[in-house]
Amino acid sequence: MIRESLTEIRHTLHQYPDLSGGEQATAERICTWLAPTRPDRLHREIGGHGVLAIYGDESHPLILFRAELDALPIQEASNLSYRSDFAGKAHLCGHDGHMTMLIGLARRWHDHPVAGVRLGLILQPAEETGQGAAAMLADPIMQDLKPHRVFACHNIPGEALGHVLLRKGPITAAVHSTVLTLKGQSSHAAEPHLAHSPNRAIAQLLLAAESMTRADRTDPSFTVVTPIHTLIGGQAYGTTPGQGEIHLTLRAADDNRLATLQTLLLAYANKLAVQDQLNLEHTILEAFPASINDPDAIDEVILAIQDASLELSHLPAPYAWGEDMGHFLATWPGALIGLGSGVDLSPLHHPAYDFPDDLLDTGIDLFYHLLQRYQKS
Ligand SMILES: [Zn+2]
Ligand SMILES: [Zn+2]
Repeated sequence: MIRESLTEIRHTLHQYPDLSGGEQATAERICTWLAPTRPDRLHREIGGHGVLAIYGDESHPLILFRAELDALPIQEASNLSYRSDFAGKAHLCGHDGHMTMLIGLARRWHDHPVAGVRLGLILQPAEETGQGAAAMLADPIMQDLKPHRVFACHNIPGEALGHVLLRKGPITAAVHSTVLTLKGQSSHAAEPHLAHSPNRAIAQLLLAAESMTRADRTDPSFTVVTPIHTLIGGQAYGTTPGQGEIHLTLRAADDNRLATLQTLLLAYANKLAVQDQLNLEHTILEAFPASINDPDAIDEVILAIQDASLELSHLPAPYAWGEDMGHFLATWPGALIGLGSGVDLSPLHHPAYDFPDDLLDTGIDLFYHLLQRYQKS
């Protein structure tokens, strides 16, 4: 049987993207590619379409590497021969590359197993919606794992190709989305003074988002509040609206600071609701805990970077985006590692973004040298 190259695998994953929660076909492909690497254990359908593969003797410490299965609900803009076959769906965050790295790592393990450690691969569903990691971790199979370390990398456009970017402590922000619903009472549009309308409260919340944002990420008290969506009344021109909603994302350096920010926002929304006799309800969606890197794990990554002769940069501040890896890092010690994917590459989630195939070997080398580090210790 001819073994597909890793580049071919990445292109196939790119061409057939699945959205969060619907990654059945992608997970199936992954298992087909992993089969020749002969995992000792292969579990499917964990927390949705999650896959767990484990290699090596049960008595040895387990080192986990995690990648994401899902693509984004965005129309790709490219002329690539392997561009997405599915309208409105595309791998624009590089998860196709991250998955391929794990297949490459499994192949290298199969050809040259590392004595004294166990290799585990996690392919998680629904990263982009912040649901897949928690769903996988709720499965008893995951709870029984007790790994020594868990690692993942994310490619970082705008940084030199192949440079490894590290940070002890938080590397990605704590993020969640909040929906504030304001219910009052409508009136005739000719008599707006008789309504309890959400108009003023929502307008003030839009402005408050700006004043609550402190965007300097090198300051640990940075916060970013972004209005995402508003809805007031309907297209009924005789009616002063009696209800509305505003959706915002909140970001902070860690989970406690995010909780404080949420409390401040709610207190302000509550004050506005009382002023205009509105009933306030709130819901939190898509919560990503901060990804907190274990300092010892980072020291181990630094040694592996030296072993693999890679370039290293230390990040001065956490990224403002959220990452589902935060759930795994809150459960087990490890690290989320940044891998520069090129200074001229389109940003993540941009319609023209495409993961650079030249980065595949860098990630596999780094992970393989990390495995060897645990053999030596
Ligand atoms: Zn993404
Ligand atoms: Zn991503």
